[in-house]
Amino acid sequence: MQKVQNLVVGCGFSGATIARRIAEELDQQVLIIDARDHLAGNAYDYRDPHGIMVHRYGSHIFHTSHEDVWAWMCRFTAFNTYMHRVVAIIDGEETPIPFNLRSLHSVFPHSLAERLEHKLLDQFEYNARIPISDFLQQADPDLRFLADFVYEKVFRHYTAKQWGVAPEADGMGAVTARVPVLISCDSRYFQDKYQGIPLQGYTETVRRMLDHPNIRVQLGTPYHELGVDYERLFYTGSIDEFFGYSCGVLPYRSVRFEFEEHALPYYQSCAVVNYPCNYDFTRIHEFKYYLRDASAHTTIAKEYSENFILGKNERFYPTPHQHAAAIYAAYAAKAAELPQVHFLGRLGCYRYYDMDQAIHQALQLPL
Ligand code: UDP
Repeated sequence: MQKVQNLVVGCGFSGATIARRIAEELDQQVLIIDARDHLAGNAYDYRDPHGIMVHRYGSHIFHTSHEDVWAWMCRFTAFNTYMHRVVAIIDGEETPIPFNLRSLHSVFPHSLAERLEHKLLDQFEYNARIPISDFLQQADPDLRFLADFVYEKVFRHYTAKQWGVAPEADGMGAVTARVPVLISCDSRYFQDKYQGIPLQGYTETVRRMLDHPNIRVQLGTPYHELGVDYERLFYTGSIDEFFGYSCGVLPYRSVRFEFEEHALPYYQSCAVVNYPCNYDFTRIHEFKYYLRDASAHTTIAKEYSENFILGKNERFYPTPHQHAAAIYAAYAAKAAELPQVHFLGRLGCYRYYDMDQAIHQALQLPL
């Protein structure tokens, strides 16, 4: 059987980062494979016939406060200065998300918004970031009314569509805390120091990361069909698959996108519009905003959440429930017995990593 020194499974950011580090820092040969026929994992993007850079698996906005991650990415790509903004349609109005002091004024009459704003500024530090689960613990009746409003209009239905459970369900607190209530006028979706979209796209960025004489890339190659022996393995696929599902199938949420092309300059007012209370989709992505693509057309995607079903759709989100954590713990115990195998990334570690967290982990791993 053919033997390689280092095998990396998965051509997303985790796999590409570790492959490049091995090639450069150790000057060793790396074979990197992916079951899919494209690079970049779920960050994969491509230009469609209208010249619009489409994010095939939904919007990916690069944002980080890790200096090392930003410096790493900037070796392979330049970024634009895009700062992500999201609005949710609440009572028919475009409302900034995360819900903040500006949002108050878009959903309430002036007098009520002012009263609530004063009370919020009395009660909380300016710039406080409050998870909805904490925000609901209000003694003041006006603030209680506001918290119930935000819970109902922003979180309850969106979370039910996205996860199939209520925001107060087991483990969901950490998920909804990604989008806190902000006591400020900051209407950016992310507050990180660095944010932007790679000028030539994510796929090209990963291609450049893997463009090294020590790295060989093989797409369309599932790990279990490879038939290659290795000294060390860096596995970024789902850890349950590696172990043949012997401790059970890890649950994930998946997403289905319905793409539409419109003969319009723009379809909506920003790249992502959330629809917490209406329709069956959670949000609509309009991709031409990301790189300010000039086109008379626009390409959008309506995002529908669904359960991951093995062999039917792709894994997107590890679920935060306790029974999933128990299955993962059983695999982690098996993994600990294999010192020559390292599990990385969202699927390898079954953690809701953003791109920068996945890269940070791959940069920190001792080689
Ligand atoms: N969320 C919500 N309403 C919104 C936006 C987010 O209820 O308008 C909740 C929902 O549970 C979602 C979570 O916050 O799954 C995290 O949202 P985020 O935008 O971080 O998810 P991602 O972009 O990773 O899908």
